[in-house]
Amino acid sequence: MKNKQIEALRERLGEISDVRSTISLLHWDQQTYMPPKGGASRARQQATLSTIAHQMFTSPELGTLLHRLSDSLEKLDPDDAVLVSETLYDHDRARKLPDGFVRDLAEEEGKAFEAWKEARAKSEFGLFRPHLERLVEFQKRKAELLGFEGSPYNALIEDYERGMTAERLKGIFGDLSRRQSELVNRVVDSPRQPDLTWFDQEWDEGAQWRFGMRVLKDMGYDLEAGRQDKALHPFTASMADVEDVRITTRLDRRDPFSALSSTVHEGGHALYDQGYQPKDWRTPLARGTSMGMHESQSRLWENTIARSLPFWKHYLPVLRDCFPAQLERVTPEQIYRAQNRVKRSLIRVEADECTYNLHIILRFEIEIALLEGDLKVADIPEIWNVKMKKYLGIEVPDDAHGCLQDVHWSSACFGYFPTYALGNLYAAQMFEKILVDIPDLWDHVEQGNFRPLLSWLRDKVHRHGRRRRAPEIIREITGKEPGSEAYFWYLEGKYGSLYGL
Ligand code: ZN
Repeated sequence: MKNKQIEALRERLGEISDVRSTISLLHWDQQTYMPPKGGASRARQQATLSTIAHQMFTSPELGTLLHRLSDSLEKLDPDDAVLVSETLYDHDRARKLPDGFVRDLAEEEGKAFEAWKEARAKSEFGLFRPHLERLVEFQKRKAELLGFEGSPYNALIEDYERGMTAERLKGIFGDLSRRQSELVNRVVDSPRQPDLTWFDQEWDEGAQWRFGMRVLKDMGYDLEAGRQDKALHPFTASMADVEDVRITTRLDRRDPFSALSSTVHEGGHALYDQGYQPKDWRTPLARGTSMGMHESQSRLWENTIARSLPFWKHYLPVLRDCFPAQLERVTPEQIYRAQNRVKRSLIRVEADECTYNLHIILRFEIEIALLEGDLKVADIPEIWNVKMKKYLGIEVPDDAHGCLQDVHWSSACFGYFPTYALGNLYAAQMFEKILVDIPDLWDHVEQGNFRPLLSWLRDKVHRHGRRRRAPEIIREITGKEPGSEAYFWYLEGKYGSLYGL
């Protein structure tokens, strides 16, 4: 017998999902094709739709329906029961934020994004500062409205990585930063540095684009349910669950691996979003279980697979078709070594695996200090530059290459950065098990065959959507808690052999 209340719930959630997908489409357009003067009205449109989505989702009718259903969870079939409990969690949480607050925040985000673009182009933090000050105040108010124990930062993390706390992250990151800094120092001091003489050439953007599209297709990204475009800050946007999942990339004439990395990275995110079960479409279950888990998917493809020697044994001939003159005498080993070169770099999205988490820890510490009231927005450029020197041993020449480089703060994403580092840890834990379950994985990669890997990820991670939390998935796969051991095993193994440590 069909449950009428569940049907009513699914219908309502479907409508809300439609509005949210439309917001996502507007955001995608804003960052890809919208002309510059469209910014102000786009901010209003997004604010209006966000308010509508929020009102629909927090309506008392939906609340009554959810509470009624949750009173008899044990009578529901397991799919419906998890849908009710996850939606009720979101509903209760969203109701803590008043409509006016949500509308004002969305409007401020739109303006802040436009200001950030100009500030970054001119490398003038002052243009962005008043917007960021307002956004930080919004975050503090948000934390109070949501409620928290310990640090106000905990209220914000919960949106991205449920169950994680500032206190636990401080512990994990303290350990990470120490071990990674040591590794970076050993690698940078090693006499065995990669040969990059062949690398310093012009790389046609059209050819880079064609190569990236080929790799995407091989990974299993469904181009009938997605597309790739250019954007200043690459991202993945899901417009309709699995049926319209778009990615973006940016091209650099001096570095063909920059575009490839972002294409494969966003492709990894998109594969997750294309992998939910049809029965979950248009519900909150058709979503990555956490940002850290999402990032584990992108990082696994980007770093573990597309920065491996077997990958280049397969793809060098393909890349050589795109760049016959530049790659005439280059070997897979040279590409592998060049692509895994380690340097003390300024830009997070271009950072290598060895330095990456240090970029995250710097941002995490600044965010915590802002939220806990230990740092003023006006002092960000200075503290940023001090920390870059401390962690990465590098001088920051200007704010565009420093505190203005990331889009996140203009979109009021506080608490998001730590999930990038967690993604690395989850990916390494998963990969350890993948090598056990698929012993000939590297042979498949060397053939350009990613089907066994994708099926494994679909089965162990993607199909669950939000049914299981990130730690639960990691425990189920590995029998262990989320941690950093597998990550260091992977990192030290790879870079130890690359740099002869
Ligand atoms: Zn990502």
